[in-house]
Amino acid sequence: MEKVVIMGSGCAGYAAGLYTARANLKPLIVTGKHPGGLLTTTSVVENYPGFPEGVDGYELMVRMQKQAERFGARVKFGMVESVDLAQEPFLLTVDGETIQTETLIIASGASHKHLGLENEHKLENKGVTYCATCDGALPIFRNKPLVVVGGGDSACEEAMYLTRFASMVHLVHRRDTLRASKIMADRTLAHEKIKPIWDSAVTDVLDVKQDKVTGVRLKNLKTEKESELEAAGLFVAIGHIPNTQLFRGVIDMDEAGYIIPKRGTATNVPGVFVAGDCADRVYRQAVTAAGTGCAAAIDAERWLAARNE
Ligand code: NAP
Repeated sequence: MEKVVIMGSGCAGYAAGLYTARANLKPLIVTGKHPGGLLTTTSVVENYPGFPEGVDGYELMVRMQKQAERFGARVKFGMVESVDLAQEPFLLTVDGETIQTETLIIASGASHKHLGLENEHKLENKGVTYCATCDGALPIFRNKPLVVVGGGDSACEEAMYLTRFASMVHLVHRRDTLRASKIMADRTLAHEKIKPIWDSAVTDVLDVKQDKVTGVRLKNLKTEKESELEAAGLFVAIGHIPNTQLFRGVIDMDEAGYIIPKRGTATNVPGVFVAGDCADRVYRQAVTAAGTGCAAAIDAERWLAARNE
């Protein structure tokens, strides 16, 4: 039987692995579908403390994995398919195998919502991105027109952030009013470098033949008129989906699926803790995820110690 199983191998999962390993708990980290998490899809990470020249997202995650393994964490490549938290020890099914554990740290992250366009997928990391804070300062976007899709706080934040680098930011939204909070919306619309394009959808991303983003095809949803817009980057900011579907009805979460901790990182089920983006609808940064991973590890360690006293 395991003392600690960590579900997820992003910054939160590996930080939790590092700390529980150093507490001699020999944690088992189950990677999930994307080993290394969302950061592996980013090219250069320039805002993780300790890397003044930036660090490749994939490399950062490999380093985190090695650091956790150095102290005894075990990494299992696979998906948690089902969980039974009604009994102790908890039961997890990982690729058909049953695993028993005394504690569980959920660090399953969140996935960016995608537009679902074929060329969006083909040009990911070649101008299509889901994180302005991660990628906005890259040279390919400097002094070029950029497109942000979405009308919420994230889209406004991304658009505002990109004004530092872009020559112009086109904010494409499917309606004619922003969903974002009023203060964010007002600030965004007042910015001289941000030009809203209302009632419109991005229907295609150009240009796969050139293997980079050169523009987008737009459709006005009211007039059905189609047009092309030149852009060096497409930033999709239409929300996130927390990867918490397995816990619905068992672990307390909000209507969007973000887990709501009860105290610290503890959830409503004793022995189950949560860290990272699956419980964070506000910050969603690598460093904040790593921080909560550390906190969940300490909470799990103390919970085990108290129970064994
Ligand atoms: P959100 O509030 O759910 O907004 C998503 C936006 O994307 C909406 O405008 C939506 O359009 C649009 N959208 C959704 N699916 C789409 C699709 N398939 N095609 C085109 N557009 C689509 O998500 P969010 O902006 O990521 O914010 C999530 C939460 O985090 C919110 O509670 C927000 O307040 C919070 N947040 C806060 C801050 C801050 O306070 N600084 C920053 C970021 C996020 P419709 O409006 O038509 O539905």
